[in-house]
Amino acid sequence: MYLIMIVMYTAPFGAFGLIASAVGGAGMDAIASMAAYFFVVLAALFIHAIITYGSVIKFVAKKSPWWFFKNFSPAMSVAFGTASSGATLPVSMKTAQERLGVRKSVSSFVQPLGATINMDGTAIMQGVATVFIAQVYAVDLSFTQILTVLMIAILASIGTAGVPGVGLIMLAMVLEQVGLPVEAIGLILGVDRLLDMTRTAVNITGDATCALFISETEKDLEEKDPSIRD
Ligand code: ASP
Repeated sequence: MYLIMIVMYTAPFGAFGLIASAVGGAGMDAIASMAAYFFVVLAALFIHAIITYGSVIKFVAKKSPWWFFKNFSPAMSVAFGTASSGATLPVSMKTAQERLGVRKSVSSFVQPLGATINMDGTAIMQGVATVFIAQVYAVDLSFTQILTVLMIAILASIGTAGVPGVGLIMLAMVLEQVGLPVEAIGLILGVDRLLDMTRTAVNITGDATCALFISETEKDLEEKDPSIRD
């Protein structure tokens, strides 16, 4: 704990040094590209939440996306505030069960599992961050390397713990796979907190979408054949 405390106190100076050297080298363009990275990740997270989850809710679970987001928003705001899927788990399970009508048996299996391995928001950030870092270092990623980034980002996000900032640490694995310098993480460290909060909200929304979809499918199956309940 003592060593971690020392690292935590010195990390901001390291991040400042890396950002300062990037700005010193590339001028104010570095700031503009960091802002572009920030907004691209935010846009991708919003599109994923609205289009991907929205369509699953509408067409597969056959519920209104508006109803879903309205009722699930208390859990999303806790995720946004804590930046931790793990810490939000009790609230997201309670919200899914009480406000979305997800069955307890489904919610208590799907949501803890999702909070551990289902991190779409994190995978999105890792993909965008890798392409951004490659561009900063003027590395041209081939199509195969982009596919590798995609696969490794999914695997890295599965291995990411549901606590603040871990997605950025797992990004090191993705960068190594395509031969990019791991220290480049320092470039995005400064803008990661807000992105971490947003991607955590997306991560837990994915788990709740999945729980709702399974719960609704089970209800349909039982209506067709009540004997399967036993
Ligand atoms: N904070 C994220 C979560 O708990 C993980 C990450 O991407 O750092 O879901």
